[in-house]
Amino acid sequence: MTLARREFDVAVVGRGIVGLAHALAARRSGKRVVVIDRHARAIGASIRNFGFVTVTGQERHNMWPLAYRTRDIWADIAPRAGIAVEQTGLVLPVRRKAAVAVLEAFMNTEMGEDCRLLSDAQLQTLDGETGFAPCEAALVSPHELRVEARMAIPAIANWLEREMDVTFAEPTSVLACEPGRVMTNRGEIQAEAIFVCPGDDLNGLFPDVMAECEVTRCKLQMLRLAAPGRRLARPLMSDLGLVRYEGYAVLPEAAALATELRAEQPAQLDAGVHLIVAQSADGSLVVGDSHEYSDAPDPFQHERINALILEEFTAVLGPPPPVIERWTGSYAWSSRQNWFSREVGPGVHVTVVTCGAGMSTAFAIGERVIEATLNAPIKEIADA
Ligand SMILES: Cc1cc2nc3c(=O)[nH]c(=O)nc-3n(C[C@H](O)[C@H](O)[C@H](O)COP(=O)(O)OP(=O)(O)OC[C@H]3O[C@@H](n4cnc5c(N)ncnc54)[C@H](O)[C@@H]3O)c2cc1C
Repeated sequence: MTLARREFDVAVVGRGIVGLAHALAARRSGKRVVVIDRHARAIGASIRNFGFVTVTGQERHNMWPLAYRTRDIWADIAPRAGIAVEQTGLVLPVRRKAAVAVLEAFMNTEMGEDCRLLSDAQLQTLDGETGFAPCEAALVSPHELRVEARMAIPAIANWLEREMDVTFAEPTSVLACEPGRVMTNRGEIQAEAIFVCPGDDLNGLFPDVMAECEVTRCKLQMLRLAAPGRRLARPLMSDLGLVRYEGYAVLPEAAALATELRAEQPAQLDAGVHLIVAQSADGSLVVGDSHEYSDAPDPFQHERINALILEEFTAVLGPPPPVIERWTGSYAWSSRQNWFSREVGPGVHVTVVTCGAGMSTAFAIGERVIEATLNAPIKEIADA
């Protein structure tokens, strides 16, 4: 839409989940908010992911509490925004004794609260319909929820506009941000506070900040498989996830598992492959993924990598149904931190989630950044 007003309290650049999270938190603190993006709808990482809001397995000290809070906000806004929660929880069946040791160690931390470690027989009783291959043990977590990202992200934007009185500017590239002013290729927008949430746009608005924070891109390959004719009670991960997700991977017991995986599945480790399987309302399965790190990754799907993903699928769930869709995605990534928010000028902030957990942490990060910068209490969503 063409803006009738060009002055706001808060301008947010980016309509991915991180930008929407900042817009929500700013609106809850009573601010007049505009969201600006070069695209008419989100087409980046936020609609290409699993829609898996993951708590269990997140990095223990920072990301795990952020994920808990973010999960609660998703649960609060989903019914308001007309978003279906497709699945809840997580099941992680493992087929190696070294992986069981990691899960046992995990259960002994505070992060294991309300999770269960099941035997193969107990898993078959719980989720018999899923058709798991035999396993050594399985972690079952109740904490997660899963939405269909490609529908949920536009639904949040619609709800923010319709019910929360957030303004969405016409599609326009932001060329520069200065204190109080956002310069776009459709004119200037004024705002007291500006939050730039550009995702993996490394060389756009603040390349020096991206360089200082050592941000690069992570490219992922994703698949959708035809409905297998059986229900998965909850999203699923496997042994490979235990050496990728920090909440497990930094436990001392993970070192032996990593050695075993290096010997037995080197191709998967080299391609950064681990397994997530989530099921959509029509029964189809979203399956991934791989991880390749580069400032400018190629945009192509490599069948060799898809085969590695499907090999892991087969080990856990048996022969896969046909692939019906393939896509790539990329997100901002850094080995230095999982996310950052920097004030780059008076009232101008850049927030980037630099790991693959933006869907799981953005709402809490948005609250934290807005609380720290706007000096205004954030109301409950129902009262905002
Ligand atoms: C395949 C895949 C699977 C994933 N799985 C999960 C998962 O299961 N769980 C999880 O928690 N996370 C997952 N992630 C990570 C998660 O998707 C990201 O962390 C998150 O979406 C990042 O959100 P964002 O808003 O920063 O970026 P984006 O969604 O990319 O949005 C950034 C927006 O900024 C806009 N923009 C940038 N610069 C400008 C400018 N100058 N002017 C105007 N507009 C601009 C862009 O147009 C874009 O719309 C996954 C990611 C991928 C790719």
